[in-house]
Amino acid sequence: MLTPIEAKARIRGPIPGLPVLFTPDDKINHAGMRDHVQFLIENGLTVLLLSVGISEYLHLNPEEIRAVAQNVTRAADGRALVIAETGPWPTGKAVEFARFAEDVGVDAVLIVPPDPYYLPYDPALHDDALYVHFETVAAATRLGVLFHERRLAARGTFRPWSMDLIKRVAAIDNTIGLKEESGDFAYSMEILDTVGDQVVMIDDAGKTSFIFTHFHGSPAYITGIGQFAPQVSLGFWNALESGNLVEARRIAIDIALPIDYLGLRLGWVAFIKASLELCGLPGGPMRRPGISLTASQKAEVRHLLDRLGLLPGVDLSTGRIEVEEPSDLFYRTYVGGRNFIVYHLLRQVPPTADPLGPENKLIFATGVLTGVPVGCTGRNSVGAKSPLTGAYGEAEAGGFFGAELKFAGFDAIIVQGQAAQPVYLWIHDGEAEIRAARHLWGQDIAIGQALLRAELGDRLIRTAQIGPAGENLVRYATIANDVIHIYGRCGLGAVMGAKKLRAIAVRGHTKLPVADPEAVRSFGRRFAETWRQRAGELYDVGTLGSLSALNAVGGLPTCNFQAGSLANTERISGERLRDTILVDREGCFACGIKCKRVVETRVGEHGYAVDRAYGGPEYETVAALGSNCGVADLVAIAKANELCNRYGLDTISAGTTIAWAMECFERGILEPTDVEGLELRFGNGAAVVELIEKIAHRQGIGDLLAEGVWRAARQVGQGSEQFAMHVKGLELPLHEPRIKHGLGLGYAVSPTGADHVHNIHDDLYTSAESPFFDRIRALGILEPLPATDLSPAKVRLFAYDVLWWSLFNCLELCANGPYVLDLNLVNDLVRATTGWNTSLWELTKVAERSVTLPQLFNVRAGFTPADDRLPERFFQPLRSSSTGRPVDRDQFEAARRLYYEMRGWDTRTGAPTRANMVELALDEFLPE
Ligand code: SF4
Repeated sequence: MLTPIEAKARIRGPIPGLPVLFTPDDKINHAGMRDHVQFLIENGLTVLLLSVGISEYLHLNPEEIRAVAQNVTRAADGRALVIAETGPWPTGKAVEFARFAEDVGVDAVLIVPPDPYYLPYDPALHDDALYVHFETVAAATRLGVLFHERRLAARGTFRPWSMDLIKRVAAIDNTIGLKEESGDFAYSMEILDTVGDQVVMIDDAGKTSFIFTHFHGSPAYITGIGQFAPQVSLGFWNALESGNLVEARRIAIDIALPIDYLGLRLGWVAFIKASLELCGLPGGPMRRPGISLTASQKAEVRHLLDRLGLLPGVDLSTGRIEVEEPSDLFYRTYVGGRNFIVYHLLRQVPPTADPLGPENKLIFATGVLTGVPVGCTGRNSVGAKSPLTGAYGEAEAGGFFGAELKFAGFDAIIVQGQAAQPVYLWIHDGEAEIRAARHLWGQDIAIGQALLRAELGDRLIRTAQIGPAGENLVRYATIANDVIHIYGRCGLGAVMGAKKLRAIAVRGHTKLPVADPEAVRSFGRRFAETWRQRAGELYDVGTLGSLSALNAVGGLPTCNFQAGSLANTERISGERLRDTILVDREGCFACGIKCKRVVETRVGEHGYAVDRAYGGPEYETVAALGSNCGVADLVAIAKANELCNRYGLDTISAGTTIAWAMECFERGILEPTDVEGLELRFGNGAAVVELIEKIAHRQGIGDLLAEGVWRAARQVGQGSEQFAMHVKGLELPLHEPRIKHGLGLGYAVSPTGADHVHNIHDDLYTSAESPFFDRIRALGILEPLPATDLSPAKVRLFAYDVLWWSLFNCLELCANGPYVLDLNLVNDLVRATTGWNTSLWELTKVAERSVTLPQLFNVRAGFTPADDRLPERFFQPLRSSSTGRPVDRDQFEAARRLYYEMRGWDTRTGAPTRANMVELALDEFLPE
C-alpha cells in the first residue's frame, strides 16, 4: 500500500477517467475494462481514475462499483496509480467505500461531496457539514485522500468552495490533493496560492485551463481524449513540461476543443465509448436508460476523429488514408521499387528522423513489371530509414504479395505515423481500411496469417507481417510475406513494429493491363522454356548449391569470417539438404524455378522438430547460422531458420551477431555469466537455436544482441569492435571480400550498409565464357577480370554492374533473374508491358537515379565518405583459403575515391554534384 506521501508524488500528468463498459446483455464487461487499462498503461499513462461521472456511478449498484474498483486495481497491478472516487453518498456509505478501496489495493480515494439534499442550505452550516463529511471519510482510511471541489452546493445553487473550507480540508492529515473543475482561472490560482504547497491540484477544466494552472503549479489534469488517444494527452503534457507552449496551445485549441464540443453535444460518455470502438478498443453500449449514439452520430464522431488524425489509418497517427495517382511521367522516370521508395523518403522524411519514431515512413513498392505473368517478376521492396544504420534502408522479397497488391489496384503503400494500438491494413480491390490487431499481436507469423485469412474469409489473401521480433523492436526484425518470403535486411520489421502495424493483408481481382498482351505471353512462354536449362540447379538444390564450391576455394565465411572453409561442409550442403530433410519446393508469382526450400523434421528423428510452415534455409542462412557460427549440423540450422522466420528475425544479421558473440566468448570478453551459462563456442548449434529465442524476445543476453552487432560491440568494448562484422551498422552477408575484392568495395559504398544483392560478385566475371559475363557485355564491359583485382577497370565493372542490380531493384525483378533474363530482354519486356519506347540507355538512367538518390538521402542524414568502411578483418589474411587475399588498404581507398568520381559525387562530402543531379533529371532535389 502506498503512503499518502508516495501517492501524492505519483499524481502527475494526464489522468483519464475510466468509462465502465457493458456487454450487450447489460452486464459489466470486466474483461474489456482490463484490456482498456492495459492499453492505457502500455501507452504511457500512469494515473487512472474511477469517478462518478465518466464511470457512470449513477447507473451502477454498490456491488458493481466495488467490483469495478477491484477489477481495475488488479488490472493496473501497481503499474499505474488508481484513484477511486466515492459516490455523492451520505458519510457512512462513503466511509464503507473508502475502507473497501483500501482493502482491495486502490492507491487513493477521491471524496465527492454528498448529494446537496444531505446538506443544510445555510453557508456556515453547509461548510461545517461538508468538512465533517470529508474528515470522517478521510479518517476511515490510511490511504491518501483527495477532495472533489464539486459545485453542487445546496438546492440547485452552484457556488465555489470557500477558501476557508479548502484550507481546513487540505489540513486533514492524509489529504493529498483536490480535483478542481470550475475553469475559473482566478479561483484556481487562488487555490494554488492558498494550499498549493500542501496538496496537488488536479485540473478538470480542460486543456486550455491547464495551460495556465500547470504554469502556476498544478501537476496533473483530467483528460477526456486520453481514454482513446493517449498519445495526444501525453503530447500535450510533454509540450507543457518542456516549455513548448506553442505546441501545447495547438493541441488544446485544434484537437481538444473540437473534441470537447462534440463530446458535450452528443453526451460525453456515449461519445467516449463510440471513440473507443472507432479506435479498435472495447467500447460497447450504454447502460439503459443511457442512449448509445446513432449511426449518423457515430459517423459524425468518425469524421471528427479522422479530421483530427486520431483514427488509425495508413497515416497511423492522423488516421488518414490517401490515394495518390502519380503521372505517367513519374512512372517512367522512376519505374518503381527502390526509386519509388527513396523518392518519397527524400521528400517526406526529415534527415534527423528517428527510424523508430512517427516521422519515419515505411514504404512498400512494386515495379512496372510486378504482376506480369513472366517468371522472376514477383518481387517487391520495402524501405524506410533503417533502425540499424540510420541510413537509407531497403529489403526485397519475392512471393505473391507484390502481384496481389497490383491486382488490388495499388503500386505502393506509404505508411506514416504511429498507431496507438496494434492495427493491420486491409487492402482489397481499390479499398483500404485499418482494423484493430490486438488479437494478432504476440502471435507467431504463420499463426498470424492463418488468423487473418480466417477473419477475412479468403485463403488466397496475401499478407506482409511482422512477428514478435518486430513487435519487440529487435533492430534486425524482418517483414514476412506469406510466411516464407522475407524482407530481411535493414531492420524494417522494427520500423513496422514501432508503428504498431502488425500486418498488411491484400486481395485483388483486377487483371493487370499490359500494352502488348501477346508479346508478354510470349515472354512468359520463353521464360518457362529456358529456365530449366539456365537455372535448373536453383530448382534442384536452391541457392545453397554454391556452398560447397565456396568452401572448396576457401571463400565460405567461417567462424565470424576468421576462416574460408569449414570441416564437414558436406553435412550442410544443398545436396545433403535435398536428400534428407527437403519435403517440398516453393516459388514466387509466375516463376517455375521454385528455388525456395521447404524442410521438415520430427523430434527424435533429428533432434529438433522443424515446422515446414516456415520454409527452409537458403545459402545465406546456412552460412550465417551454420558455417559462420562453426556449425555443421543441418537440422540445428534448419531449426534456427524456422525460429527466425517464426519470430521475424533476419537470419543474416542474427547469424553475424551470434558469430561475434561466439568469438567474444572464446576470447574471454563475454563470460559464461554474461550469457546465462551458455557454452557459446563456435560449433554449438544448440546455443545458436537458444540465442535466437532470446534475441526475438529480448531476454537476457538476447536483449544486447537484439541491438545488432555494431551497437552490441560498442557496449561490450574490449576490442570486440574490431571483429564486429558490419558496414554502417548492417551486419555482413555471407560473401567473403577477400576472395572478391570488388564485392568488398560494394559493401563499403552501399547506401544500405553491407549488402549482397545490389553488389558485384567478382567470380561471375572472371571468364569470357561465363553466361553472366556474356550478359554484361550489353553494358559495354568487354574484358573479364580476376576476382581479387581492384584496379580502375574493376571499379568500372563494379560501377556498371551495380546499375544492373539497381535496375532490377526498381523494376522488381528477382536477383536470380540474370540467370534467365539479359538486359536487352528486360528492355523488351518493359516496352511490351508499358507501351513506352524505352531503350537500354533510358533504363540505365533509371538505374543511375536509384544509385544517386539513396546517396543523397544518406548525405542529408549526416553520412560522409568516411562511413564507407570495411571491417578491419578484411585487411588481414584469411585462414583456410586457397584463393583469399587481404584487401589492400591503399588500393581500396583509391578504388572508393574513383568510384565517387565516376558517379559524380563529391569525394570529400559524398554529396552528388549539381551536374550529376541535373544529368539524371533530379533537379527537384537540388538545394534551393
Ligand atoms: S528464382 Fe526463386 S526467388 Fe526468384 S522468382 Fe523464381 S522462385 Fe522466386
